[in-house]
Amino acid sequence: MEYSKLSELYRRLEETSSRLEMTDILVDFIREVPPELLGKVVYLTLGKLAPDYEGLEFGIAEKMVIKALSFTTGFKEKEVMEIWYQKGDPGDAAEELLKKKRQHSLFTTPLTVERVYDTFLRLATASGKGAQDTRLKFLAELLHDARPIDGRYIVRTAVGKLRLGVADMTIIDALTVFELQRQREREKGQESTGRESGTEEGEAETAEKESQTARGESGTNEDITPAEKKAVRGQIEGAYNIHPDIGYIAEVLVREGLEGIGKVEMQPSVPVRTMLAERLSSPAAILEKMGGKCAFEYKYDGIRIQAHIGRNRIQLFTRQMENVTSQFPDVVLALESIRGENEMIVEGECVPVDVNTGEMLPFQMVSRRRGRKYELEKAVEDFPVVLFLFDVLYLNGEALIFLPFPERRETLERTIQPTGRVRLSTMRILSDAGKVEEFFLEAIDAGCEGLVAKSISEGSIYRAGARGWLWIKYKKDYRTELADTLDLTVVGGFHGRGRRAGTFGALLMAAYNPEEDRFETVCKLGSGFDDAFLAEMNSMFTVREGLSPRVRSEIKADVWFEPEKVFEVVAAEITLSPVHTCARDVLKKDAGIAVRFPRFTGRVRDDKAPEDSTTTQELIEMYGQQVKTGV
Ligand code: ATP
Repeated sequence: MEYSKLSELYRRLEETSSRLEMTDILVDFIREVPPELLGKVVYLTLGKLAPDYEGLEFGIAEKMVIKALSFTTGFKEKEVMEIWYQKGDPGDAAEELLKKKRQHSLFTTPLTVERVYDTFLRLATASGKGAQDTRLKFLAELLHDARPIDGRYIVRTAVGKLRLGVADMTIIDALTVFELQRQREREKGQESTGRESGTEEGEAETAEKESQTARGESGTNEDITPAEKKAVRGQIEGAYNIHPDIGYIAEVLVREGLEGIGKVEMQPSVPVRTMLAERLSSPAAILEKMGGKCAFEYKYDGIRIQAHIGRNRIQLFTRQMENVTSQFPDVVLALESIRGENEMIVEGECVPVDVNTGEMLPFQMVSRRRGRKYELEKAVEDFPVVLFLFDVLYLNGEALIFLPFPERRETLERTIQPTGRVRLSTMRILSDAGKVEEFFLEAIDAGCEGLVAKSISEGSIYRAGARGWLWIKYKKDYRTELADTLDLTVVGGFHGRGRRAGTFGALLMAAYNPEEDRFETVCKLGSGFDDAFLAEMNSMFTVREGLSPRVRSEIKADVWFEPEKVFEVVAAEITLSPVHTCARDVLKKDAGIAVRFPRFTGRVRDDKAPEDSTTTQELIEMYGQQVKTGV
């Protein structure tokens, strides 16, 4: 397939800010792509080569792109830099330079999607001596054969700035509509062949329909009901939750339909999307919700780790599915020592401990491990960690996520022989609110954040990728009247004045609405930043021109950002608001939800993707609880 088709797709996507239109454009395109190429197309469109957990990065420095552009177009590097600077965008600069090319060659090799993908893959994996030269050569070759518009997107992809406003969830939406349209067309096809088979007229009509389908013209979304959409999306999302490789999911759907999607399986080395907890602020409310009795576990304050323990290798993933194996060599060793003959996927919280006292230390100590090699070695020594396991999702070829929690816990206890470094979470089955409160204080005393209550009912499965009431956290944050901190995505900024001149006076913060894959504003955040952090903030965000199609805002920020960074925020209360877009019209017409008196806790949640932010639904529930308890 020619890359020019992809450039055309990107141009169309860039021209719209309507989510519905974007979905339609993507659906049309999915129809056109040969299924075997779909995975590659999906990843290229996301500006990637593979799922994030594979850790494949383009790693192409801007300097190299400048060199490649200079080499291909005959402009001096300095001139390339000037145009780049003037345009303010590498893609625009590349397009302009290729239009004005000073040197032309008679020979070009067709620029296909396969070639672009494979070249990027080689660029990403080139290593060792001469890797830089190889990268330059490959990139220059691509640009040599690119039309100006192709160059625009190739360069943006290379420097990691494709940003079409397409995310995994946008692709899932498009796949849903694609599948429903395909089902409709099949039904129509069957109907008309049933009605008119044998007549010449009928055949002509069918042929016309088939050709329309091939061109993607007959797919209308009008007769697709929200319930149908929800059901199909649910199935696709279900498969994605246990195998979050969106390119693979797209290919399976297009080739094998929902039947294939139903057969997608968990696989060691492919992280499962994590199950998340709801929150309540009293033991009585939790027990009531859980049917009077449930398991309570310490809520450790560290980093959630999903360990994939294979017979030959062990891999560790964060809740954002980042592969952090190399940052925790001590955990890998500890897991090796208890692996035995088993192959499994287990989950736990990795907590730093004091080498002298054995006591748990604040979470921030683990984040020090993200530094360089030398620092890592030192951190491993100074802040050793203990992994407290609380779940098992897979054991020796069998997925366990559909077993009730008590059975999973029992399997965990049976399979893991605890050591100093790998332990099981402290758990108690309780039915008395007073006893829960005692256990809670014990947990706080041990250095934990509180408790996580877990359903022990028949239906207490591991709900991958979902926040639900099967797990309820009970955390006390003494600094705030809200029962929990919020994790909000930064979507915009306001210029600072006075002491804050030259940096940001406030940030525009948003919650995430997964149903619509949109970030909806809830507050302006201006307090809790110290001077050092303010200085750091200037280079922390990716500035974009205008509002991202994934953000809904009625407030005009001075600067718009890509929704990327998640900040932890404490707040006093949740109120209705005429200006914020979160849960707009849900609780009251023309009103949304706002978070009042927000303050940054100092914690940037780099372990969270923007999609892991507090959701609109959670805020609606928190508002409801607040009204009930009269806070
Ligand atoms: P928070 O910011 O409160 O940690 P979160 O959004 O990261 O919340 P939640 O699902 O709301 O995640 O809360 C559960 C989190 O608590 C898990 O993601 C995990 O990291 C942590 N945790 C600590 N101990 C346990 C435990 N025993 N069982 C489950 N999760 C635990």
